[in-house]
Amino acid sequence: MTGFIDTHAHLQEPEFAGDADAAIQRAADAGVTEIVVPAVDLASARGGLELARRHAGVYATAGYHPHEASKLDEESLSQVEALFDEPRVVAVGEIGLDFYRMHSTEQEQLAAFEAMLILAERRAMPVIVHCRDAWEAMAEQLAPWARRAVARFEGRPLGVLHYFSGTLEEAQRYVELGFVISVHTSVTHPKQQGLRDVVSRLPLEALVIETDSPYGAPQSQRGKRNEPAFVVEAARQIAILHNVDLDYIGDVTSANARRLFGLPVTADVTGGHG
Ligand SMILES: [Zn+2]
Repeated sequence: MTGFIDTHAHLQEPEFAGDADAAIQRAADAGVTEIVVPAVDLASARGGLELARRHAGVYATAGYHPHEASKLDEESLSQVEALFDEPRVVAVGEIGLDFYRMHSTEQEQLAAFEAMLILAERRAMPVIVHCRDAWEAMAEQLAPWARRAVARFEGRPLGVLHYFSGTLEEAQRYVELGFVISVHTSVTHPKQQGLRDVVSRLPLEALVIETDSPYGAPQSQRGKRNEPAFVVEAARQIAILHNVDLDYIGDVTSANARRLFGLPVTADVTGGHG
């Protein structure tokens, strides 16, 4: 078996201060081979990159989260773009729309998302998309982008719908457009039957897994801080829903994540370079 890839863990956040390296070691012990550490702004992109430079199986991203959209200006935009020259930065993210919390206005979110999508198309880099209570506006912006950008991706996935919370129809729409769907560890919660129904109907080739650490611990760890070692619980739930072995889910979702982010095969998430 090849192990598991946590495609979304905010290990540079204060919740992991002084514990990120140990969390990465616990993940390795649990069979996690790679971790993608998404950014929400410039500072967190740099924090993620620092972790990625220390650990062979850790990768960073750069981008502005919808919550931080009001802070994006010309200067920060060009600094984000410069980070894509770093080989350890593998995606534009996380970006998107969140009309639930509204930490930035709708206008600010739409403008920041547009700016990030333009960068992603120019660089042919996959996007990590956050969408909450904004599926209609998301489709209006993301679907035309996908139809335009697909030519530059040479068959690779265009991005991932992270912490997916939409309907089966939404999921299928984005799979058809060339995205993959990320199954979060909260899929194990009793109240998530709707999400389990969606996941059970999607092809395994379209799925990756994530923790979104430190948020949303799986049912078996309820009340604790989430961390990458627990991503195996999302894989276990998919294995049950699709009636296949856990190892097989690890293999398929890891292959999907490698294709998405263009990752080489690594054996040990904790290792240094060279
Ligand atoms: Zn996130």
